Amino acid sequence: MPELPEVEVTRRGISPTVDGQVLRRLVVRESRFRWPIPEDLPHQVDGRSVSAVARRGKYLLLPFETGTMIVHLGMSGSLRHVHPDDPPRKHDHVDWVFDRGVLRLHDPRRFGAVLWHPAADGDVLTHPLLGHLGIEPFDPRFDGGWLHRHTRNRSQAVKQVLLGGDIVVGVGNIYASESLFRAGIHPRTLASKIGPKRYDRLADAVKATLGSAIDAGGSSLRDYVGAGGESGYFQIGAYVYDRAGLPCRVCATPIRKIVQGQRATYYCPRCQKP
Ligand SMILES: [Zn+2]
Repeated sequence: MPELPEVEVTRRGISPTVDGQVLRRLVVRESRFRWPIPEDLPHQVDGRSVSAVARRGKYLLLPFETGTMIVHLGMSGSLRHVHPDDPPRKHDHVDWVFDRGVLRLHDPRRFGAVLWHPAADGDVLTHPLLGHLGIEPFDPRFDGGWLHRHTRNRSQAVKQVLLGGDIVVGVGNIYASESLFRAGIHPRTLASKIGPKRYDRLADAVKATLGSAIDAGGSSLRDYVGAGGESGYFQIGAYVYDRAGLPCRVCATPIRKIVQGQRATYYCPRCQKP
């Protein structure tokens, strides 16, 4: 499933094609996504220019003067540059035709979304899909103090709180395990019991983990932008994720695997304290 780093890598990959450019044509071959693509969407956007592609959580935002297109890659979606004459393959459902290139959405499971938020409805960040999202991990306001303030009345384990996405977005399952390792915090520790100093380390670890994943994705970027079943390369150099039984890279203690909220968690029982 594309996580925040893959979506950010996608944003950076498509921005030279999209930013400040006129969308010549939106081609919808299949509109049955998680929510149907509005029938009149091509009519709303064809021939109009996009200012600059943005990202909020795992949503890509294409701002037009008349509204904002919201794109989500769902479980299996990817966007890539294609040659204008390339015939669509199976599951190639939507094309964005710009003068600088054609972007094609490939999504076998169709859990993604291509939606429209009219400018008349106000700021796109108030859209029902975006309004409840936690702060961006690279927002300067996100720090240990932010985590500490927002967890005082939370009765869940810290890993569950990170995954929830309502305090900070983008810390998916892999990145939660990795960040907690880097911060030396046991994943079962109650979020409300962690003090400000440990939360400082955790906030730094979240930024470092996501930052290195974005760098890894950016460096392997060719014509194919965004993943979709291709996230393996983001895991290169994982400290704990998917390493059950293997020696900790720091202390050589075997890494353990537990299940929290039906998701696998990996941790080092020696390096990570309750
Ligand atoms: Zn260790």
